Amino acid sequence: MWAATGCGGGDGTSGRRGPTATTAPAGLALDTDPFTLGVASGDPTAEAVVLWTRLAPEPTAPDGGMPRGDVEVTWELATDESLGDVVASGTALATAADGHSVHVDATGLLPGTEYFYRFRAGEHDSAVARTRTLPAPGTPVDRWTIAVASCQLRQSGHWTAHRLIAEDRPDLVLHLGDYVYEYFGGGDDLVVPLDAEPATIEDHRVLYGVYKRDPHLQAAHAVAPWLVTWDDHEVQNNYAADVPRHDEDAEHFAARRAAAYRAYWEHMPIRSTPADDGTLRMHRRVEVGSLATFFVLDGRQHRSDQVCGDRVPTFASACPELGDADATMLGEDQERWLDDGLASVATTWTVLAQQTVVKALTVGDLVPNVDQWDGYPAARRRMLGSVDRHGVENVIILTGDIHAGAAAEIRGRDAGSDGRILAHEMVVPAISSPPLGEAAELIDPADLGLSHLNAHDNGYARATLTPDAWTTEWVTVDVSEPDGVPHTDAVRRVDVGRPGLVTP
Ligand code: FE
Ligand code: CA
Repeated sequence: MWAATGCGGGDGTSGRRGPTATTAPAGLALDTDPFTLGVASGDPTAEAVVLWTRLAPEPTAPDGGMPRGDVEVTWELATDESLGDVVASGTALATAADGHSVHVDATGLLPGTEYFYRFRAGEHDSAVARTRTLPAPGTPVDRWTIAVASCQLRQSGHWTAHRLIAEDRPDLVLHLGDYVYEYFGGGDDLVVPLDAEPATIEDHRVLYGVYKRDPHLQAAHAVAPWLVTWDDHEVQNNYAADVPRHDEDAEHFAARRAAAYRAYWEHMPIRSTPADDGTLRMHRRVEVGSLATFFVLDGRQHRSDQVCGDRVPTFASACPELGDADATMLGEDQERWLDDGLASVATTWTVLAQQTVVKALTVGDLVPNVDQWDGYPAARRRMLGSVDRHGVENVIILTGDIHAGAAAEIRGRDAGSDGRILAHEMVVPAISSPPLGEAAELIDPADLGLSHLNAHDNGYARATLTPDAWTTEWVTVDVSEPDGVPHTDAVRRVDVGRPGLVTP
């Protein structure tokens, strides 16, 4: 049932509401459309979804072109696209301190239901966007569709893949990180107008403004709720917890990381809020009826530093640190949380939505990339050991980061145990970042037992989940021009209770 008629939704910003004296009258100085960054929804549950927007009449200005004061934003959520049947609504305060971002937790909704929502600020209406709640935990679900994206370096291509995601109208979109890159400059229309890597919150607002003003990205956000996690480039290439890529003053990096995390929060439809110490909890569990449990992982904020200087490649014989049993990808708390979670899974599918490649790609002495799980073998043994120990079946691992599409069965070789298949890894290509390309030639897909590898194309993956099977389709598209034509590059299926990747 609705929590209340007409205005049942929670006000996501009420806890941060400041003195009303600082509140600008709605509409003040909002002469132009403030919804240039679009709207979004995310972190759905069976009864709630987070609605997001950020007011920015000038999307790439450090202050978004907003007046200094706070602005009231109203929102409505309805069961129909014309917003005739409004079932929840409310007012939120877009504060200057939060970059005039708004996070509303719309609660009291019905499970497994499609909704439409819209924001209003002053005289301006946002676009109407679609979202949907999850089926109630434990209830049967015949079919659930997802799109999976990662790695969208703005300067390196068009976001046709986001347009395609919008056309798919999936039930849920997962983004596995590298939503923004710290890289500045660029050419033609695809430019980040900064002259150094972003360090302050204002720099990051400029960066996100450039990214989020893209109409295809906005369309993908407007079609379904998103479930996001981050990887490295939201802060800096291959950073590890509080360790920067290059020598940098620790305090400077800590401040910059906190600004990056805060900016991520300001621009994402997530329920988690930044803590006073600058951290932001990203790992969370999401259940889709009796069909699937998603464990969204954070392999960046809590990991130990990459071994042996993070050299590509690394030679195992020259890197005894690879044997460090204490090395961690998730950190102790998240590891324990995941182990506890895996012990209590009651759904058909178990999904680990995370960043870097889990599959062992080590060839003899050569470790191609110690930033991924190959550089954290003890942590990988613990994670896969946890899957094994709790007898979790029908496990899917979703991976981004590497700018290639790939599929692999995760076996004992990867887990350090027997040859049984413990999981199925689906690696999604980059939305626009430069494909892995020649670097992939370090490995031989057949040797490593990869079922699919395309290191040359951009795109995304979509998957259909049913109580009988999981089917992933890799969609590739040329991103060098605005109107690239999509191509289904590969399809792999996993049948319930029959471990292994099937090529239909
Ligand atoms: Fe990337
Ligand atoms: Ca990455």
